[in-house]
Amino acid sequence: MQQLDISVVVPLKNEEESLPELAAWIARVMEENNFSYEVWMVDDGSTDESWLVIQRLAAENPRIKGIKFQRNYGKSAALNEGFRKAQGNVVITMDADLQDSPDEIPGLYSMIVNDGYDLVSGWKKVRYDNTLTKNIPSKLFNWATVKMSGIKLHDFNCGLKSYRKKVVKTIEVYGEMHRYIPVIAKWSGFRKIGEKVVEHRKRKYGSTKFGLERFINGFLDLASITFVGRFGKRPMHFFGALGTLFFLLGFIIAGYLAFAKVFFLQYKMTERPIFFLALLLLIIGSQLFLTGFIAEMVGRNAPERNAYLVEETLDHT
Ligand code: UDP
Ligand code: MG
Repeated sequence: MQQLDISVVVPLKNEEESLPELAAWIARVMEENNFSYEVWMVDDGSTDESWLVIQRLAAENPRIKGIKFQRNYGKSAALNEGFRKAQGNVVITMDADLQDSPDEIPGLYSMIVNDGYDLVSGWKKVRYDNTLTKNIPSKLFNWATVKMSGIKLHDFNCGLKSYRKKVVKTIEVYGEMHRYIPVIAKWSGFRKIGEKVVEHRKRKYGSTKFGLERFINGFLDLASITFVGRFGKRPMHFFGALGTLFFLLGFIIAGYLAFAKVFFLQYKMTERPIFFLALLLLIIGSQLFLTGFIAEMVGRNAPERNAYLVEETLDHT
């Protein structure tokens, strides 16, 4: 099979009106730039006619390919499935709602192929979404993600991104982790992560699929991804350290109370608030310690417990 330059992965849910325009626009850009390409449209459990539209588009242009999920699994799952299928040297993801412009494809492609980036994230510098519910919370979210991940991007959640093929074949996107793909890529050892200012457009048809709950979920996901990245392979270092600290504190306080009781005859030890603090610390401390043990045992059984990536091997024998 001929080597493909670009795979475009489009996760979509109920975007029937946008798809024909999107497909035509992508095809036009690809032809103008002489790219060999494929487009994977991943129908994430649409309840409108999206799949029919995809079938029609695929019949007209064999480079357009489709996958249909049995039900709605979320944008991360859709992206992940597209990544499994993609064959292009560069993989470009974009939203289906025409908010991302296919005109950005050549620039994003070139940054991977010519400038050596592993991943390039779009940056919607000028944004056409609701200021109060999207733009301001998103600034906060990006700020927190930069602080926790150390990756300097302005717009982590931008749907428009390009990847070196190796990146998408390595990482796994699950849950709602599509917001943190650069973080996942960094933890997998892909360090050259860049950003490119991209044009953003108003949603032309349909409506947004993400409500306000995404901010709570987003921050929880950031907490888990940071935790998994740092301690996923050695949970005892986290739980054990905290547990020991708590337990020791409780032990010292209890020791002091016992000492006071024996030597200064303070019999009413249980009436001192600090007694309950000591109890609490002892219990929480041992709980944390046990959690650490259990987490270690879970980690031992995980199939990816040894999921390191070898970049090169030298053996001259
Ligand atoms: N999407 C999806 N599965 C979902 C929700 C959304 O595949 O469960 C797709 C959606 O069709 C669109 C992209 O993800 O192509 C981004 O969604 P949306 O435009 O609603 O997000 P926003 O731009 O408002 O952040
Ligand atoms: Mg959108």
